[in-house]
Amino acid sequence: MGSAPSPHPSSPTFSVPSSILIIGSGVFGLSTALALTRRDAFAQSAITIVDRSDSSQPGAFPAPDAASVDSSRIIRADYADPAYTALCNEAQVEWRKQDNPTDLGAQGRYHESGLLLVGDAVPPAPVAAPAEGGLKPKMTGMDYARGSWANVQFLASNDSSSPAARISELPNPDAIRDALGTGGSSGSWGYINANSGWANAGAAMAWYLDKVRQTGRVEFVAGTVASLEHSDTTVTGAKLSDGRVLSADLVVVAAGAWTGGLVDLAGQAVATGQVLGYLDITETEQEALSAMPVILNLSTGLFVIPPVDRVLKVARHAYGYINPTRPTHPPLPLHPHSASPSHPADPVSLPLTHLTTPSLQIPADGAADLRRALSEMIPWPSLANRPFSKTRLCWYSDTANADFLIDYHPHWQNLFVATGDSGHAFKFLPVIGDKITDCIARACPPQFRGKWDWRVREKTPAGLGMAVVTEDGSRGGTPGLVLAEELAKAGEVVPATE
Ligand SMILES: Cc1cc2nc3c(=O)[nH]c(=O)nc-3n(C[C@H](O)[C@H](O)[C@H](O)COP(=O)(O)OP(=O)(O)OC[C@H]3O[C@@H](n4cnc5c(N)ncnc54)[C@H](O)[C@@H]3O)c2cc1C
Repeated sequence: MGSAPSPHPSSPTFSVPSSILIIGSGVFGLSTALALTRRDAFAQSAITIVDRSDSSQPGAFPAPDAASVDSSRIIRADYADPAYTALCNEAQVEWRKQDNPTDLGAQGRYHESGLLLVGDAVPPAPVAAPAEGGLKPKMTGMDYARGSWANVQFLASNDSSSPAARISELPNPDAIRDALGTGGSSGSWGYINANSGWANAGAAMAWYLDKVRQTGRVEFVAGTVASLEHSDTTVTGAKLSDGRVLSADLVVVAAGAWTGGLVDLAGQAVATGQVLGYLDITETEQEALSAMPVILNLSTGLFVIPPVDRVLKVARHAYGYINPTRPTHPPLPLHPHSASPSHPADPVSLPLTHLTTPSLQIPADGAADLRRALSEMIPWPSLANRPFSKTRLCWYSDTANADFLIDYHPHWQNLFVATGDSGHAFKFLPVIGDKITDCIARACPPQFRGKWDWRVREKTPAGLGMAVVTEDGSRGGTPGLVLAEELAKAGEVVPATE
C-alpha cells in the first residue's frame, strides 16, 4: 500500500471520505478505483463503481460503447507537450512488462510496433476557436509533430528505456514510404519512433477489471445514473434510472463523453464523435502488414494501426461531430443557487452509439476520409473497394487545449470530475488512476497543476455549451460538424454497428 503525497500548501484541506462513488468504469474510473485501493489513506473508504447498463442485464465494466473499449489504442510518448511525454514514459514501464502471462503488456495486450508520426507542409485553414482572451492561433499538425520529435529525442537522451537510436527523422515522402513498408506514404515530414506502439484496449481493460475485482474492495453496480443527488451545496450521491439511489461522501464523475449529461460542463468540455472503420483482410495480407508501424498524420488526423486477427483498423482523430441533445434530466448546474428543476435542460452534445441506436451509420464525409487514409497509407488495389466489415462512432470528451479535466467542482462540495480525455487518455491507463487519486487528495502532480484544473469560465453565455474546439494541433477535419446534419448527407452508407 502507498500513501498519498502531501497536499499542495495552497489547497483546501482534505479529509478522507468514508464512502466514494465512481460513475464510469472506463480508463479514468477503473484506474482510479484501483489506485484508491492501494492507498493507506483510503483503507477504510467504501468504494463503489457504477456503469451504464440496463438493470435487467448483468452489466459490463466498462460498457461496450465506452471510449476505452476497442481492438487497439496507440501508446506513444510522442507529444508536443513534455508533461504528457513524461507521463507516457511512466506508463510504458508498465506496458512493457511482458515476461509473465499475468503482466499488463503480455498476451498481446501491448505491441511495440513503432509509430510513424507525420504532418503535411501546408497547414489546414486557421480555425476561430473560442479561447481565453480572444482567438487562439492554431498550432498545426506539423508544429505538433516537430514539437513531439524534440520531446521524444530529449526523453531518449535521458532515459535508456527509450533509446534515441530507435528514433529516426523522415525528411520527405519517400523516406516516409520506406519506413511504412506498405508502398504508401502520408505527409511531407515526420519521424519514426520504434519506442512507441499500440495496445489491445479491450483486453487491457479486462486485465484491469480483474485486478480491481481481486482487491475485493470495490462494489460494482450495473445501472445508469440519471442525475446527481444533492442537498443545498453538497453532492450526496446519484440516482439511477431505475430509481435506486447510491449515496456517498465523495462522488467522482468519470463518465467520459457522457459527463456533460450529469454535470454542466459548458465551456469546459464537449462530447465529439469520431469515426472508425474495420476491414477484414486475408492471412496473406496480414502477413504482408506484419512489420508495419502505426501511422498517424497529425494534419489530417488519419491513422492506421497494424492488423490483428485479420482485421485492419483505420480511424480519424478529428474535431469530430457534436450531437446536440436535450437531456431527460437537467445536468447539475454550475452554481447550486441556479438549480431549477422546472427549467428544461439546454441541449448538450451527448454520445450516440451503436449500443443504443443499432441502426446508426457513420457520416459519408467520415467514411470518405477513412477510404482516403487507406488509399494513402496502404494503397493496395485489393483493399480499395473492400467494404468495411464494421464501423463505429466513438466519443471523446474534448477540452479546448486537450488537457484533461481532473479536479474538484468549484461550487459543489464533495463532487470531483475526472474527464476531458480529449481522445488521448488510453495510454495512461497504468498511471492515470494514481494521478487522479493524488488530485482527489488535493496533491495534483506539479506538472499538471493549472492544466487539469476546472477552467475559469464563470460567465459562459447561454448556448455556448458546445463551443469548445480542441486546438492542440493534433486534429484533422472540420470543427463544429453536427452529427445529424452530416448523417443526412448522401454518400457511402456504412452501418455503425459492431
Ligand atoms: C476513436 C478513438 C480512438 C482513440 N485512440 C486513442 C489512442 O490511440 N491512444 C490513446 O491513448 N487514447 C485514444 N483514445 C482515447 C481513449 O480511448 C480515451 O481517452 C479513454 O478511453 C477515455 O476514458 P474515460 O474513462 O474518460 O471514458 P470512457 O471509456 O468512455 O468511460 C466512461 C464510462 O462511463 C460510463 N457512463 C457514462 N454515463 C454514465 C451514467 N449516466 N451512468 C453510469 N455510467 C455512465 C460509460 O458507460 C463508460 O463506460 C481514443 C478514443 C477514441 C474514441
